[in-house]
Amino acid sequence: MTDATRDQLVARMRPFGTTIFAEMSALAVRTGSVNLGQGFPDTDGPAAMLDAAAAAIHGGRNQYPPGPGVPELRAAVSAHQKAFWGLDYDPDGEIIVTAGATEAIAASILALCEAGDEVVCFEPYYDSYAASIALAGAVRRPVTLRAHAGGYGFDPAELRAAFGPRTRLVLLNSPHNPTGKVFTPDELAQIAALCEEFDAVAVTDEVYEHLVFTDADAPHMPIASLPGMRARTLQISSAGKTFSCTGWKIGWICGPRDLVSAALRVKQFLTFVNAGPLQPAVAVALDSPPSYYEAFRDDLQRKRDRLCEGLTAAGFAVLRSEGTYFVTADITPLGGTDGVDFCLALPERCGVVAVPTQVFYDDATAGRHIVRFAFCKRDEVIEEAITRLARL
Ligand SMILES: *Cc1c(COP(=O)(O)O)cnc(C)c1O
Repeated sequence: MTDATRDQLVARMRPFGTTIFAEMSALAVRTGSVNLGQGFPDTDGPAAMLDAAAAAIHGGRNQYPPGPGVPELRAAVSAHQKAFWGLDYDPDGEIIVTAGATEAIAASILALCEAGDEVVCFEPYYDSYAASIALAGAVRRPVTLRAHAGGYGFDPAELRAAFGPRTRLVLLNSPHNPTGKVFTPDELAQIAALCEEFDAVAVTDEVYEHLVFTDADAPHMPIASLPGMRARTLQISSAGKTFSCTGWKIGWICGPRDLVSAALRVKQFLTFVNAGPLQPAVAVALDSPPSYYEAFRDDLQRKRDRLCEGLTAAGFAVLRSEGTYFVTADITPLGGTDGVDFCLALPERCGVVAVPTQVFYDDATAGRHIVRFAFCKRDEVIEEAITRLARL
């Protein structure tokens, strides 16, 4: 018998409750609200990908795939990295397939950090980062992204101060969720220089690599493409966002052999392998012509513009989104002071669900007045949300 009153959870995980997305999505269902909280698309990805998955399931590819991933997916990832970013990775030893970007990030941190090592990351951060760092017994060193007129930026002095003798990793997400920021070549160069100086590894979350809008300050640039960085970078992406299949959980890691084999050693004991028949289907999707990626971006950019119009008309001060599925907005003009209170009340007030960004900061004041909306939804869903938000 266990003692029901005792918290059975290890101390290092106790600060992490239910993810805000589960909480807000449940609230959306309970109140019949339009859910612009969680960032999942409500339409399916390319038909050729779906057909390839069905064919693989019916074609007997339902057993454990090879540990590093099926060869055709590793080859497709390699070709994609070369075609889009000019980066060469050998499918045999420099690329592994993971259970989404989430497992790739967790495996990288667990593989590379000793207890007490430090991980520099920009806040607000994707919610799995802090938990994965804590599971490794590592320590996060946040650098705050602050909203200003032109979007979001960081203080270079604060970035430098976050590095020290215990720095092992920099965890970098660009294009950045939840802010929609795309790191500029100058910012990436600053980060790269500090990685060199402190002999740190960059672990990059590039799941929105194909969602940089045409009015962004700069196109997407993997930090691995900067001089000297390929040797010290684990570049992570996944199929979920680019091919509208977030439930498939197929991700990958590209990097030099020593770093990739370290991540694989951990990964094999987390999940070993996943989603065998879906892996060849993602290979088919990655081979889509450039027109797929352009149309995907243009579609999301149009949705972003429409939602921003609606949010502005409803009274929000909309912050600039250069990429991703998301736009953030300041609630101050609507009399809001606390994003959590605001988002908990929003379903009752107008039947829309958004996510408070303050839960993604260590600095509780930095994002208190900012909330995030997802625009990766069908046009009619966005229109309905706009109509409802106009009641505010
Ligand atoms: C959605 C998301 C992920 C998760 O990717 P999966 O492939 O579903 O694990 C990771 N990082 C960011 C920034 C995301 O928005």
